[in-house]
Amino acid sequence: MNVLRRLYAYVRPYRFWAIVAFGSMIAVAGTNGAMVTLVQPLFDDVLSRNAGPGGEEQAAQKARKTRALDFILENHKPPEERSAFGRTIHEVIDPAQQWWDSKRDVRWKYVLVALTLVIILRAASMFFSEYAFERVGLSTVRDLRNAVYESIIRQSNRFFSKRPTGELVSRIVSDADAVQAAVSVRMGDLFQESLNLIVLFAIVVLRNTELAFVTFVVGPIIVLPVVQFGRRLRRATRVSQERMADIATILEESIKGFRIVKAFAMEKFEIRRFHEATQRHLQINLKARRIQATSSPVMELLAGVCMVLLFGYASIRIKAGVLTLGEFIAFLLTVSLMYAPIKRLNKVNLAMNTALSAAERMFNMLDVENEVKEKAGAKTLSAMGSGIEYDRVSFSYDAEPVLSNVNLKIAQGEMVAIVGGSGAGKSTLVNLLPRFYDVSAGSLTINGTDVRELTFDSLRGMIGIVTQEVILFNDSVRNNIAYGRADVPIERIEAAARAANAADFIEALPEGYDAQIGESGVLLSGGQRQRLAIARAIMKDSPILILDEATSALDTESERLVQQALANLMEGKTTLVIAHRLSTVRRANKIVVLERGAIAEVGTHEELLALDGVYRKLYDLQFLEDDKPADDGA
Ligand code: ADP
Repeated sequence: MNVLRRLYAYVRPYRFWAIVAFGSMIAVAGTNGAMVTLVQPLFDDVLSRNAGPGGEEQAAQKARKTRALDFILENHKPPEERSAFGRTIHEVIDPAQQWWDSKRDVRWKYVLVALTLVIILRAASMFFSEYAFERVGLSTVRDLRNAVYESIIRQSNRFFSKRPTGELVSRIVSDADAVQAAVSVRMGDLFQESLNLIVLFAIVVLRNTELAFVTFVVGPIIVLPVVQFGRRLRRATRVSQERMADIATILEESIKGFRIVKAFAMEKFEIRRFHEATQRHLQINLKARRIQATSSPVMELLAGVCMVLLFGYASIRIKAGVLTLGEFIAFLLTVSLMYAPIKRLNKVNLAMNTALSAAERMFNMLDVENEVKEKAGAKTLSAMGSGIEYDRVSFSYDAEPVLSNVNLKIAQGEMVAIVGGSGAGKSTLVNLLPRFYDVSAGSLTINGTDVRELTFDSLRGMIGIVTQEVILFNDSVRNNIAYGRADVPIERIEAAARAANAADFIEALPEGYDAQIGESGVLLSGGQRQRLAIARAIMKDSPILILDEATSALDTESERLVQQALANLMEGKTTLVIAHRLSTVRRANKIVVLERGAIAEVGTHEELLALDGVYRKLYDLQFLEDDKPADDGA
């Protein structure tokens, strides 16, 4: 219920179109009723052999005694005995009836004209009802999609690290689609077909009470199997989709992990696994096809038998003179028009359930509390002043403390290298600065202001980040360097590229700065990608830098270019670098050695070597190796 209410909040802005949609739907249902009502006089007055004065009139008179409509209108009573209601109604309808009877010879023309008008009105209403409903659905879902995306993209790092990308993508892509299908198509069906059914049902009962009774006995014989077949088919289809997902999983695992498959010579095993999965998929699909193939003949058979019975019944009643041909044909038309609504309504339920759970998942996403929030009235920061200070900072992702009681001062313009074994907490330490996470205890200040007091824009605007893993967007080289800033002149982009030692290879690309990077674009080497990322950081020109040096070695030339680019980038900046290179730690003003989340030693390279402690061991293990030239591709 709550989900529906929230969904309605998204529909509200499009009330106007919703009203248009409902209005048109009522019109469509009305025209349906009008059409079947007009068919009877058409047959009885025009197309029937007995057409003409007197002919069917008597039969019709007799038949009228059996209609619910006559009962309501009190046709069976003489005028004196009618109630006030009956008298009022007759004051209106009797003159109309007399007029209608007086036009006996020409009224077929009126009927045809009226039928044409109804058909035109129906066509127009159908257009508006479908378009307006789709418009409501599509607009609603656009807004919902935008809201979920906005909520996701602002979330903290913890949010992203806890959820697989695929899940987030499917919230915005497939769940939104399911909601849209339900809002536009199924809700439309629900209202339209219910209205249609009500109108048709009312007409059948009012005009042909006896036949209606017959139908409601016979009807379920046809309708129930439709429902049953539909249910079984849907179940089979769902299982089939699950089997397909199994296949996709195997594919993804084995194709992504092809190296492992080959290294372990597991091709045969994977092939067998794949064959088993496709076999299961085949079996369930065959079952679905079997259900589908059975349903049509069975339905036709049942419908045919019912038809024969109905014709037999009608023949007897028409012979007895209590039913006219026109009434019977109008009746048949009405009943056949009821078939489609029933079939469609049967699907609504399922689609609505799917959509409601999809909507619920989307709303859950909207409800995730962002644990790193901008404070109301947060301050802005524009330049570096007294520097950065970690004051008794502790942090934990879960129960385990990852950083404990870290004290660290970094003066403006200083370069601080952070070293330590894998898992020591180096990344965590630097990630606290741009508030990817908030400290669990203690405080982290820039120029004496707690980072939690600053706006995200100004805090993150102050910090440039170059990580090991270079993220490039599927866009031109120029836009990748300028990231998000459309207005920068090309000269500045070129200058940044030059400072990042990237200008040469960019200019050698066939389309230069306009070359597309990404799946269908140019392939860049690791070193080139890194220099592009450095150019991006140079472009941003922020006073604080966070660097995460690549651990995988580049070839000597590429390494030299990257190091030089980094040196250009760091010039005059306050830098925190997670260091893996000897050259970096040697140049650092201060080296911080982290061990299990605590600072073990602080000092310059020489001081720490002289100390002969943790750093010395690390140096022997890690940095000495760094001196050897590596031969990996750039
Ligand atoms: P380093 O950068 O020194 O290798 P990290 O800061 O990445 O170390 O990790 C420190 C500790 O925190 C490790 O034990 C790691 O398993 C844990 N850790 C890192 N990121 C997360 C996370 N997103 N969720 C939970 N634990 C994490």
